[in-house]
Amino acid sequence: MSHVYGGYVSRLIEELGRLPGIGGKSAQRLAFHILHLPTEKAENLANAILEARRGVRYCSVCCNLTDADPCLFCANIKRDAKTIMVVEDPRDLAAYERTGEFHGLYHVLHGAISPMHGVGPNDLTMAALLKRLQSDSCKDVQEIIIATNPNVEGEATALYLAKILKPLEIKVTRIAHGVPVGGDLEFVDEVTLSRALEGRRTL
Ligand code: ZN
Repeated sequence: MSHVYGGYVSRLIEELGRLPGIGGKSAQRLAFHILHLPTEKAENLANAILEARRGVRYCSVCCNLTDADPCLFCANIKRDAKTIMVVEDPRDLAAYERTGEFHGLYHVLHGAISPMHGVGPNDLTMAALLKRLQSDSCKDVQEIIIATNPNVEGEATALYLAKILKPLEIKVTRIAHGVPVGGDLEFVDEVTLSRALEGRRTL
């Protein structure tokens, strides 16, 4: 579809079309929106993409995406260091933050175990979590809350984590299923997420 415009416009449409969830028509619509922006606004957009890509890295403690290391959660001494919530994705962390109900620390796995997609424990940040829990900084941790998504992959990940965390003799809990099965935490409303957290059970 983009070839009719030639050159720069085609390239912009092609690049936008590579983004997830953006089909040919959407790419075209976005491209023309960008082309009609004042130059300064277009520069702001381009710079935001570049700076985010270049400046964002993994927090060396919790593996969250961050531009400062340690991230703002790990660096915040007001957070409750006795509880660590394990989530699949930085977006799930953001969803729990929006509830305002959780004041502990996080650990971001960056995915879930999925044999179908070839994702095993070594593709996630589980080793970093184990190392973290065995370090001095975690000697006060009393509970690990596993808040992976309530689908097959999330459940498999929770069970695997419970197994490898067992020797550490720290209480491991799993969020309740107030969250619809097969759902994605990111899209669940705050009240449901808060209830799921309240109703967590020991694994
Ligand atoms: Zn962190």
